[in-house]
Amino acid sequence: MADPLFQRIALLGIGLIGSSLAHVIRRENLAGHVAIYTRSAETLAKAEQLGLGDSYHARPADAAADADLVIFCAPLGANASLAEAIGASLKSGACITDVGSCKGSVIRDIGPHLPEGVSLVPAHPVAGTEHSGPESGFAELFDGRWCILTPAPETDEDAVSIVTEFWCRAGSDVEIMDADHHDRVLAITSHLPHLIAYTIVDTASELERDLRKEVVKFSAGGFRDFTRIAASDPTMWRDVFLNNREAVLDILGRFTEDLTALQRAIRRGDGDALHDAFTRTRKIRRGVIDAKQA
Ligand code: NAP
Repeated sequence: MADPLFQRIALLGIGLIGSSLAHVIRRENLAGHVAIYTRSAETLAKAEQLGLGDSYHARPADAAADADLVIFCAPLGANASLAEAIGASLKSGACITDVGSCKGSVIRDIGPHLPEGVSLVPAHPVAGTEHSGPESGFAELFDGRWCILTPAPETDEDAVSIVTEFWCRAGSDVEIMDADHHDRVLAITSHLPHLIAYTIVDTASELERDLRKEVVKFSAGGFRDFTRIAASDPTMWRDVFLNNREAVLDILGRFTEDLTALQRAIRRGDGDALHDAFTRTRKIRRGVIDAKQA
C-alpha cells in the first residue's frame, strides 16, 4: 500500500462528519495516525469504543500538536475558541482545514489564530444526513459528492493541492471558489431549504390536535420529506443561520416575493401563472438528475 498522505491528522469534533472522515481516512490510508478531540468525555469514550482513531484527547491542543492536517469538525460557533486553543501548538508547515457549511465565518474565526507558516484551506463537503454523533458516520458519505474549497488567493499552492488530493481520495469531486460566492450559492441550495422545512414542520406542530394527527398519518403526500430535513441537528443549523446571515436574508427576501406572487396567482385563479411556474421548476429537477446529484 502507498505511504499515507499525512503522518498525523487531528479531527476536532467527531460527529457525523468527523466520524465519516475517520472511516474514509482508514479506508484510503490517508494518515499514519488519527488524533481525535471532542468536547465531552461521553463522545470521546464513544469514539474510542468505535475505534475511530489512534489517540483520544480531552484538550484540542493535544490532538493538534504535531499534526500535518487539522480538520475542524465541530459546529461553526465553536471554531474561534478551538482555533485560539490550538494556535500555539501547531507545527510549522501544518495545514488547517474544516468542514463547515459556511465559509466566510471560518476565515474570520480561524484565520487570526494561526501562526506564520501554517496554511488555512477551508472546505465544505456538500454531503450529509439528518443524523449526528460519532456512531452515525460512514466512509461512503463523500462518494460522488462535491467538496468546495475556498482558499484565499495568497494561500500556499502546495497546501491547496494536498487538501484537494485528500478530498479526491475521500471520493469527492473538488471545486474551488471564493468564500462569499460559496455562501451565496449555499444560501439558496441548502440553507433556505432547511429554513423552509423547519418552518413547515413547526407550522404543522402548531395545528389543532386532530389536524396534527392527520398530518402525520398522511405525511407521504410531501410533508414526510420536510420532516426528515427538519430533523437535522439544531445546534449545527442555528450556527449556519447565525454565520451566513446576510446571504440568507437576501435570498429569503427574493423567496418571499416569489411566494407572494404564487399566493396572488392562487387567489386570482390564475392557472396559467401557476402552470408556467411549475413547468420551469420541473426543468430544474431534470438538471439535478442529469448532474447525478439526485
Ligand atoms: P455533529 O454530528 O453534531 O457533531 C458535532 C461534534 O462537534 C461533536 O463531536 C461535538 O462534541 C462537537 N462539538 C459540539 N459543540 C462543540 C463546542 N462548542 N466545542 C467543541 N466541540 C463541539 O455535527 P456534524 O453534523 O458532524 O457537523 C459538524 C460540522 O460539519 C458543522 O460545522 C456543519 O456545518 C458541517 N457539515 C454538516 C453536514 C451535515 O449534514 N450534518 C454537512 C456538511 C457540513 P460533543 O458531542 O463531545 O459535545
